[in-house]
Amino acid sequence: MEEAKSRTTGVVWDAEQFAALSTGERDSLRDSLVCTACGADAYYIREARNGRRACFGARPHRADCELASFVTDDGGGAPLDEVDELINAGDIFRIDPNRGRTIRHVRNDPSAPDSTGGSAVRYARRGRGNVRQSSMGLGRLLRQLVLREPFRRSQTLLIMSDDSRQTVRSGCVHLSEIEEKHRNRLRVYWGTIRFPRPKDDGGAWLNTGWGSPTIVINAEELAAVLERSGLEELDDLSGSFFAIMGRLRETANGKQ
Ligand SMILES: [Zn+2]
Repeated sequence: MEEAKSRTTGVVWDAEQFAALSTGERDSLRDSLVCTACGADAYYIREARNGRRACFGARPHRADCELASFVTDDGGGAPLDEVDELINAGDIFRIDPNRGRTIRHVRNDPSAPDSTGGSAVRYARRGRGNVRQSSMGLGRLLRQLVLREPFRRSQTLLIMSDDSRQTVRSGCVHLSEIEEKHRNRLRVYWGTIRFPRPKDDGGAWLNTGWGSPTIVINAEELAAVLERSGLEELDDLSGSFFAIMGRLRETANGKQ
């Protein structure tokens, strides 16, 4: 989208005006940007080398927002690759956080390798008949969550890293839906990176929205994410989808 509003100053910014600000001015405003139509948290995406103009995005917008477009409102145009096969009801997936990367940049990623979508299938005997059990990386799980709204609410079983079982509906939590009951629970949390901030140790804080948890990644993870997604700079993570399996902690600064 072309415009976003600062919730603190009330000023509406055109993406080009915003791009012309100093880095410090932009940084000080980023946390306050909201959609001009629905008030949802917004993020800024700078101009890209491929000529895409600077723009704003918001994900998710609030219900019925006229500016809402779940996948493509980042201005990049290229939605997620839809190469994944449909998931059969009844399949069980062991979530393997080390398969693919913890965080996947799926915006503008049409050339993403299919390898994370490939699944090592084995048949496990479980009561009567065979239940198909496969392993699934977070990247593939994320694409399913983003692209297939019915999948988000499905009863498909996931085996978590501690061997507990969760349905997709209760085991995968969008950051906007986090409640007190999720604290300390092992879940797959997913959402959109609103903007990153570098940490002194080479890692980064990933802001995910007003009142949403901040994701902390170390230098090694950050390097892997950037390499995997073909991005050169931390800043380019703005607007990317991500998924991470872990437990929510409360810190002095809020949730993490
Ligand atoms: Zn909106």
